[in-house]
Amino acid sequence: MSELPRLLSADAIFLGEGPVVPDGAVLVDASGTVLDAGPLSALSARHAGAVATAYRGLLMPGLVNAHTHLELSALRGRTTSGRGFVPWVDGMLAARLEVDEVDEADGIARGIAELLASGTVAVGEVTNTLAAVSSLRRAKIVGCIFHEVFGLDGAKTVERVRGLAREADALGLLTDTALRWAPSPHTLHTTHPEAVEAMARLARDRGSRFTVHLAEHPAERWALQAGTGPMVEWLEKRTRTPREAFRWHAEGPIGVAKKLGVLAPDVLAVHLTDAQPHELEVVAESGVRVVLCPRSNLFIETRLPPLLAMLRAGITPALGTDSLASCPTLDVLAEAKALHERFPDVPPEALLAMATRHGAEALGFDALGSFARGKAPGILLIEGAPPKGLDAARFALRQPMAARRLLVPASVAGPR
Ligand SMILES: [Zn+2]
Repeated sequence: MSELPRLLSADAIFLGEGPVVPDGAVLVDASGTVLDAGPLSALSARHAGAVATAYRGLLMPGLVNAHTHLELSALRGRTTSGRGFVPWVDGMLAARLEVDEVDEADGIARGIAELLASGTVAVGEVTNTLAAVSSLRRAKIVGCIFHEVFGLDGAKTVERVRGLAREADALGLLTDTALRWAPSPHTLHTTHPEAVEAMARLARDRGSRFTVHLAEHPAERWALQAGTGPMVEWLEKRTRTPREAFRWHAEGPIGVAKKLGVLAPDVLAVHLTDAQPHELEVVAESGVRVVLCPRSNLFIETRLPPLLAMLRAGITPALGTDSLASCPTLDVLAEAKALHERFPDVPPEALLAMATRHGAEALGFDALGSFARGKAPGILLIEGAPPKGLDAARFALRQPMAARRLLVPASVAGPR
């Protein structure tokens, strides 16, 4: 392979921010690090010696799927839709009992193949079992491994948190800089507050991002605020524990998150579908990283996150697919497309940024998400003949997944 810089050009380029540049190009070195990007005419003049290749379509940074659960991949098509969270989780857990290790491994392999086919270079993978770690490594997909814990028995759950690092260490995760490990609470109403705080401390001691599902549905609010509602009934039944034994908060999800120290810039708060306008201001002020999974919300609750109110509040959300138990594919650009169809006033480039740069920022992977100089985000081609101008971004959202090709892989420095 030539050591000369490569100049890749196309009908249009999305740099990770700003408007789409017509007749654009990106110059990378042999490691995939961006040396320059912008209009082709300017780059050709500045870098006459580069090895040039022209493509038909739009170039953009590799995709970042900031919320996955790969170990649930075998459940695709085996859960119920549109009846709310409690019936969905009941069905999901019942279906999971029927999945053996072979099915689970097959599901993970197919899920990872789909991530690669969609042009995904990084994930925020939430896991109870670390089952997908070695497959992600083989696929050279980087990201965060959010080791998830739930449980409302304080002593038992804190004990479980203490054992996590050992499990991570057995897979070499404690020193892995490409898959960055951190303990993460499932939600604030299914994880004991002391365990939430213990996980936040552990993650922060490591300087790692961590995550929590937050304000996903109204039943979560009823539980946290009043210790009542369908979620509490479900928890009583499932844990055979009366609700009086659980610790509730007399506050909504955002208030509880703030109180427990998980409303902060090193946390990815996932969903916020049920967040109220006054709560969005608190969210925006806190700098917490918001991740939206619109197709999962539509599947489970037939609701969408309040995207316009979020954008007005100054929130810059990342996107995730959630698991195949609540989403038809692991393609994060399909999440952007779903938002585009339902929020046509949101500029399509803003949606492309959510599927790339905002995801990279949320996960704390500075080298990914945009064609700024010095980054190595991977170069994704959306093949076809895009129209000129802004419509090229719409074209990127509408082209089928089969039209994608990762021309240059992403590169994250450091040992594995
Ligand atoms: Zn999730």
